[in-house]
Amino acid sequence: MTSPHLDDTHDPAITSWVDGANAPDTDFPITNLPFGVFRHDFEERPRVGIAIGDRVLDGLAAMRAGLFNTLDPAVRDALASWTLNPLMTLGRGDARAVRGVVHRLLRADTAEGERAQALAGDILASPDAIGMRVPAEIGDYTDFYASVFHATNVGSMFRPDNPLLPNYKWMPIGYHGRASSIIASGTPVRRPHGQTAANPAGPPTRTASARLDYELEIGAFIARGNRVGDTIPLAEAEEHLFGLCLLNDWSARDLQQWEYQPLGPFLAKNFATTVSPWIVTLDALAPFRTPSFARPDGDPSPLPYLDDPTDRAHGGFGITLEVWLRTAAMRDAGRPAERLSHGSFGSMYWTLAQMLTHHASNGCNLRPGDLIGSGTVSGPERDARGCLLELAWRGQEPVTLSSGETRAFLHDGDEVTLRGWCARDGFRRIGFGECRGQVTPAVG
Ligand code: MN
Repeated sequence: MTSPHLDDTHDPAITSWVDGANAPDTDFPITNLPFGVFRHDFEERPRVGIAIGDRVLDGLAAMRAGLFNTLDPAVRDALASWTLNPLMTLGRGDARAVRGVVHRLLRADTAEGERAQALAGDILASPDAIGMRVPAEIGDYTDFYASVFHATNVGSMFRPDNPLLPNYKWMPIGYHGRASSIIASGTPVRRPHGQTAANPAGPPTRTASARLDYELEIGAFIARGNRVGDTIPLAEAEEHLFGLCLLNDWSARDLQQWEYQPLGPFLAKNFATTVSPWIVTLDALAPFRTPSFARPDGDPSPLPYLDDPTDRAHGGFGITLEVWLRTAAMRDAGRPAERLSHGSFGSMYWTLAQMLTHHASNGCNLRPGDLIGSGTVSGPERDARGCLLELAWRGQEPVTLSSGETRAFLHDGDEVTLRGWCARDGFRRIGFGECRGQVTPAVG
């Protein structure tokens, strides 16, 4: 693993000819350049795009205009695809080459920028005229549990005497999720039915979930994969990480409580998982790397395969994360969404590289486009709890909203929006956009 790479694509003094990219509060300045997949309203075929300010650079249109002629043919083919899997397969180095070319195209002070600006009407799309998609064909999805604060809070509700199980500080705990129900931001989420039991010994009934919750998480897309049987050393793990997004792991707590033993989450989790449309690359995140979580005295050191000096020094990401809620009543009254919590991805006990290395440590192969969820991001403070289960403490301490409503769990019509951004002196702030979903009533 090498130290974070900085170059002129991170230079805060460089401006773009796309005005919106120079606004101080934009999530997508010219230093960000996240990848996504969108579809024009006039066309069925999705295209690769890059967010810039309040616009989207249309990859296929830019290619047809000859603006990508300096890129390798294989990279141009990847950018002409309708998913990001081909670019992910090529790997971090080629994604960085695209970032460099696009940065020069969008700069206000280059000949390439002047040429691109003359073509702005052809190569820039307006978010109003396009629909964002899930940015990759996700073959497999794994969700971890890497916040020790979340694990301790949830564990203490269900096992007051023994909140954190003995394995927690030795390895990143995870479960295999379901890729088929990963949906794009903005897609409604239907309240699921399932078995719930008021008494731990049963019997259950089948009913619509009454304890629907969100989970604030970071998602990580895999770039280059590994062959089945091969492992990924921690020092190389980040070469396999394409970039990050926001992820909402919708969870039906009443279904979860009855079904989770002995094999873990199943139908309580796999009815829907929402991802934000833009993948912020590890290159864009380079200025915002942090040391990994400082383990308190008395915690064990990781086993050697999960320990690496560079991961300790730079394995974290300084991402601020927020959850916003807007109820149907707030919407009807014209009230804005309200922030429920804010936390930091720096509070995670395990780094993404450790999760990836542990995942492949038995020879399990990861493939380009696979998605890893971090687990609910919760911090030690009450307002840094990343799900309602924790915020309202299993329904015992409902949250009171500015509208006067209370929430122990989500109601129909509630819209949950996740946001995230990185800020550091000497650099442009970059953001993740939003990860949004509205709960619709159960059916059948
Ligand atoms: Mn989760």
